[in-house]
Amino acid sequence: MAVIGIDLGTTNSLGAVYKDGEVILIPNRFGSFLTPSVVSMTEDGTIVTGEIAKERLVTHPEATVASFKKDMGTERKINLNGRTFLPEELSSFIIRAILEDAREYLKEDIEEAVISVPAYFHDRQRVAVKQAGALAGVSVQRIINEPSAAAMASYFERNEEQIFLVFDFGGGTLDVSIVDCFDTLVEIVSVSGDNRLGGDNFHQVMADSFIREHGICKESLTAKDHALLLRQAEKCKRRLSKAEEAEMSLTIGGISFDSIYTNDRLTDESGSILSRMKNVLSRALSDGDMTIQDIDAVILAGGSSRMPLVQEYLRHLFGQVPFVVGNCDELIARGLGLVCAVKAREEEVKDFILTDICPFTLGTGTYNKADPAHSYMTPIIERNTVLPCSRVQRFYTAADYQKEICISILQGEHTYEEDNLKLGKVHILVPRKKKGEEAVDVRFTYDINGILTVDVTVISTGRSISKTLSQNMSRDEIEKRMKQLEKLKIHPKDLSENRLMMEKLETLYEEAKPDVREQIMSYIRRFEYLLARQNLRPIQKYREYLEQIIEWYGNPDPFREEQKEGEEEWTS
Ligand code: AMP
Repeated sequence: MAVIGIDLGTTNSLGAVYKDGEVILIPNRFGSFLTPSVVSMTEDGTIVTGEIAKERLVTHPEATVASFKKDMGTERKINLNGRTFLPEELSSFIIRAILEDAREYLKEDIEEAVISVPAYFHDRQRVAVKQAGALAGVSVQRIINEPSAAAMASYFERNEEQIFLVFDFGGGTLDVSIVDCFDTLVEIVSVSGDNRLGGDNFHQVMADSFIREHGICKESLTAKDHALLLRQAEKCKRRLSKAEEAEMSLTIGGISFDSIYTNDRLTDESGSILSRMKNVLSRALSDGDMTIQDIDAVILAGGSSRMPLVQEYLRHLFGQVPFVVGNCDELIARGLGLVCAVKAREEEVKDFILTDICPFTLGTGTYNKADPAHSYMTPIIERNTVLPCSRVQRFYTAADYQKEICISILQGEHTYEEDNLKLGKVHILVPRKKKGEEAVDVRFTYDINGILTVDVTVISTGRSISKTLSQNMSRDEIEKRMKQLEKLKIHPKDLSENRLMMEKLETLYEEAKPDVREQIMSYIRRFEYLLARQNLRPIQKYREYLEQIIEWYGNPDPFREEQKEGEEEWTS
């Protein structure tokens, strides 16, 4: 039975295991390591995930959702075709797909997982990740901070003691961490992040400038137009990683619009993104009491750190510090594969220790004599304390004959209680005495997975209450929800390739300029016809041919003659 490492990304997810002395990335059903973190529900109520769901973002935006990782730990209900899901339920579909691919690839059962989360993920978000694992039928043994995993992979590959700054810039989040790797220790020194800043922010910037340039009224765009606009922006942005100039085109209401983007133009339009990026970097350095000179290398992780304009900006800030540029998408998963090996006490890595820190201050609300309506936030565990850790503080009654003490559990850096995130509450009865004569000890214990337990003890009576915030969903509740989810149809794997092709064709049709739409419709009809006849060989052959067609349309560099030859074969 294998333990799997899962990088549950905002945009893409991937799995890794450690086998026969090396990390193995798990290919999905389409042979790719990256599975888009997208879920969609079809008209007949079937759940589809990954590549197929990603195609449906454009064709069925109301039934498809991406980037739900941002909402993990919230009560937000996401509607897909009339059914609502919590973010952890959507994540469980992605985890389930990865597990299924891994079981098939390894021909082994998998019951345990190690899952990575951004270092700044707070308690509720971590708990939601554990629940997503449980709902997918796997026990989450450990939650690892993504930068620790990335640093672990780099350290292991380079075998050099270094202080790394991990710059993990994904689709929807920026996560910056300073990690000190020495001997067998991988230690997080400080973390900082912005969970609303990612590569996708560039799409919005480009979409806005595109419609401005063409005088298109934003309000007149349908949900589909908007989805297409963002998709075209992403395509153009990605082309700018390979070329200095790229075209962005869009057809709205039968009219085609084109714009040319360059990296310089995008840099000029993205000033606010870059300055938010700089703020996050400055915070990580100052919290770690470091300067740029202390950093030995900058590790670039996350798909968006491929963007030349991002790299150029970092060069400008970091000067001569070398960059570790590997395969940005795979780095965290490779680190997780190594964590699985540490867990299994594999010889090469068995002595490695990964230490984490608490990314936020944790504390409780206390009476504010000057302004009783605005309680203070009193820290108990300070931000950037090394985990596991346990801290205790004593608090006294604030009023005469007070019969209970309410300990609020807060997370954040703000002075007043109300401005911080409320994680929970513990009420405890105390003997009625004059104010200041009764007291409680409040102990906060933060475990290695970043999950908090609060113990409150009344000094005079010894009475105590303990609350672990990870227990906000009981075993029974998880089982009940698992049963509900199991009732949903999940798209069968063997039909996935045809389904994906159909979704790709529909997207191609939606994105195409009017003069070629008829041609694309004829491909769709022919493919539908072959599917209806259920003859596997012709379906497979035609699918291969369609792959070329899609490639051809997606690539403006024409090989028209080649295509025509193929076309004749299929139309004859
Ligand atoms: P991640 O969440 O790490 O998978 O990163 C996904 C983000 O990276 C998305 O915003 C993608 O558009 C972006 N991305 C991936 N590859 C590239 C590339 N070659 N150039 C620019 N952005 C990219």
